[in-house]
Amino acid sequence: MINKLCVIGIGLIGGSLARALKEAEYVGHVIAVGRNVAHLERAVELGVADSFDTSIANAVADADVIIVAVPVGAMKAVFTELSGSVKPDAVITDVGSVKGNVVCDARTALDDRLSCFVPGHPIAGTEKSGVEASFAELYQGQRVILTPLEETSAIATQTITKMWHIAGADVQSLSVEHHDEVLAATSHLPHALAYTLVDTLAQMHEHREIFQFAAGGFKDFTRIASSDPQMWHDICLNNRDALLDMLNRFSNDINKLTKAIEDEDSEFILKLFKRAKTARDQNC
Ligand code: NAP
Repeated sequence: MINKLCVIGIGLIGGSLARALKEAEYVGHVIAVGRNVAHLERAVELGVADSFDTSIANAVADADVIIVAVPVGAMKAVFTELSGSVKPDAVITDVGSVKGNVVCDARTALDDRLSCFVPGHPIAGTEKSGVEASFAELYQGQRVILTPLEETSAIATQTITKMWHIAGADVQSLSVEHHDEVLAATSHLPHALAYTLVDTLAQMHEHREIFQFAAGGFKDFTRIASSDPQMWHDICLNNRDALLDMLNRFSNDINKLTKAIEDEDSEFILKLFKRAKTARDQNC
C-alpha cells in the first residue's frame, strides 16, 4: 500500500497509473503536479487525483512514491526541483520512453538520492494525450521495463515492481543501453516513419483528395502520427544514436526495394514480402 503518491505530469501515462492504483485501493492519497491549473483541476474532478499543487517541492515533501511522467525533455528540470525536498525513504521512478538520457539527467540532479531512483518505462500507451485520455485498464497485461542502476536499492526496485503488478503489468528488467536499442527499433523508428509518411502525402498538391481515399491500411499504419509532437520530438533527440542506426538500416532496405521495383526484380520483392509476412504472423 502506498500512503501518498505524487504524480508529476498527470497526463495519459501518469493519470492511467493513478487510476489503476486507486481502483485497486492500493493508494491512500494521490497528489498531482503540473504547469496548467485547469488540467490539474480536471484531474481532481475526474477522481484521478485527490489534490494538486503547482509546486513540485511542496507536493513531494511528504510523498512515499513519486512518479515523474512528463516528456523526457522536461525530466531534468523536474528531478532538479524535487531532489532537495523528498523524504529520506521516498522512492522515485519515471515513465520516460528513453532511458539513457533520463538516467544521465537523474545522475546529475538526484546525486546522493540515486539509490531511491528506479528508472522505468511502461510499454503501453495510445496516440491520445492528457488526463482526459487516461484509463485504469491501460496497463492490464502490458509490459513495464525497469532499468535499475547499480546504485538503486533493492527495496526501491521492489516497491516499484509491486506497484506495476498492482496496476496489472508484467515487469521485466533490461540494461539502459539494451532498452534504448530495442525501443529505437520497435517504437521510435515506427513513429518517425508514420510522421514522415503522413507529411510526405500532406505536402503533395492533391493531398485533400489523397486523404479522402485513405483506406484501413493507411489508417492502421499512420494512427501513431496523431501522437503528441512535442513528446516524440523529445524522444527522437534523446535516443539519437540508436534511432539514427535504425533509420540508416531502414533507408538501406528501402533503397534495395526501390532498386528491385526499378529493375522489376519480382523474385526479390516477393521474397522480401513473404519473409516479412512470416515474421509478423509469427511474432506480433
Ligand atoms: P501527456 O498525456 O501529454 O502528459 C504529460 C504531462 O506532463 C501533462 O500532465 C503535462 O502537464 C506535463 N508536462 C508537459 N510538459 C511539461 C513540462 N515541460 N514540465 C512539467 N510538466 C510538463 O503525455 P504522456 O503520453 O502521458 O507521456 C508522459 C511520459 O510518458 C513521457 O515521458 C513519455 O515518453 C512517456 N510514455 C508515453 C507513452 C505514450 O504512448 N503516450 C508510452 C510510454 C511512455 P501540464 O498539462 O499541466 O503541462
